[in-house]
Amino acid sequence: MGWNGLYSSAFERVRSSIGGVGTVLLAYNTNIDAIKYLDREDLEARIERAGVKEVLPYSEELPKRIESIQQLLGSILWSIRRGKAAELFVESCSTRFYMKRWGWDELRMGGQVGIMANLLGGVYGVPVIAHVPQLSKLQAGLFKDGPIYVPKAESGKINLVHPRDFEADEENCIHYIYEFPRGFRVFEFEAPRENRFIGSADDYNPNVVVRQEFEEHFEEIAEKAELAIISGLQALTEENYRGPFETIRAHLEVLEERGIPAHLEFAFTPDETVRKEILGLLGKFWSVGLNEVELASIIEVMGEKAIAERLLAHDPVDPVAVTEAMIKLAEKTGVRRIHFHTYGYYLALTNYRGEFVRDALLFAALAAAAKAKLGDVGSIDDIVKAMDVPVNEKARGIEEALAKEYGMEGGIAEISGYQLSFVPTKIVAKPRSTVGIGDTISSSAFVGEFALR
Ligand code: ADP
Repeated sequence: MGWNGLYSSAFERVRSSIGGVGTVLLAYNTNIDAIKYLDREDLEARIERAGVKEVLPYSEELPKRIESIQQLLGSILWSIRRGKAAELFVESCSTRFYMKRWGWDELRMGGQVGIMANLLGGVYGVPVIAHVPQLSKLQAGLFKDGPIYVPKAESGKINLVHPRDFEADEENCIHYIYEFPRGFRVFEFEAPRENRFIGSADDYNPNVVVRQEFEEHFEEIAEKAELAIISGLQALTEENYRGPFETIRAHLEVLEERGIPAHLEFAFTPDETVRKEILGLLGKFWSVGLNEVELASIIEVMGEKAIAERLLAHDPVDPVAVTEAMIKLAEKTGVRRIHFHTYGYYLALTNYRGEFVRDALLFAALAAAAKAKLGDVGSIDDIVKAMDVPVNEKARGIEEALAKEYGMEGGIAEISGYQLSFVPTKIVAKPRSTVGIGDTISSSAFVGEFALR
């Protein structure tokens, strides 16, 4: 069977079995993304009002955090001048108020938990329990209909309710996303490519503030789950990681005791100390999902500089370097499944065997292509609309390299006691949206695998 045949048979099997997947616990990060498409005249007028001389220095060098309107406007200008993304924490209340009044064009669900809750619960119909650090009306309104729940403590007991029925008016955790197209001009500056600057007015997610229900009733919550996906550790720093890590370790122990497989959705974690701590925790997870930059960054703190460099040296990424890195990571930590994704192909290294591992990757690749093609996927049946997206041509060379090095056949090989699974992905030439596509890939593959077991 060719790849297209494998794609459609994997999709059909996941579609017919996904209804059997039990509840998935999702923790910890959920927020509101407020997107503002920048307008030249408006931005210039704002910079003039704030004082060009006071704003410009921050467009040369970013501040550590945002404490004034001048720093906010200067940081936006920093991104525009370079066509580079940046994200800073907004400390000052008056600047947060300024951003709120400046407004937004669009609100979207943000944070890996929020995005995965809407996909798994709202699109696939798989029941999820989500950790939402703050449940404001605005935040609750971004959840889709479907079996999406948050725990609510009532007279000492935990009840599961849809976020809209939680009915608490907590704070808004808003990430303001200022987007600009390629060629966007402000004064004498011009953006070399499209990108965005993010100012987060959010005291909860960056610090992994865990809700009281999850601190006090975690065992009762975990009892209701069969799988778990953990995310949102990426913004922690050397200064604030200790408290959250204690809670996370305790949560992982409860999951382990109950035999609930947990997946860690790794996201780029700039702080090296935190990365080392995550490495130390990885053995408590069943599975981890990451891209090439993230794999390189974690392999680097293991002291494997040469492999880390090889991971970032080629486009498409060298699959032999990826496999070597995954084996090192699996051997060091004991994690049972590593799912690697890059533009054009995915690999999974597992300490167990079966075609279902590869087939779950195919389902995830189809889901990712559907998301890129349609922007928003309404139901699982929409995913099949990506079947006509062609399989990435460049992946043939990758497949040949894997066949030569490891004797791979039909996307499966056996290496040093592990199974290596490979799939070439479908690439959408003009994507409608790629926001949260990595989360779509990892959660679809992890849940898809348990649907197929
Ligand atoms: P993000 O943090 O934006 O989700 P990731 O690196 O985690 O980024 O995920 C991006 C992944 O999305 C890539 O590895 C690639 O597999 C997939 N992808 C990106 N663009 C497309 C596209 N146009 N069509 C299909 N898949 C894509």
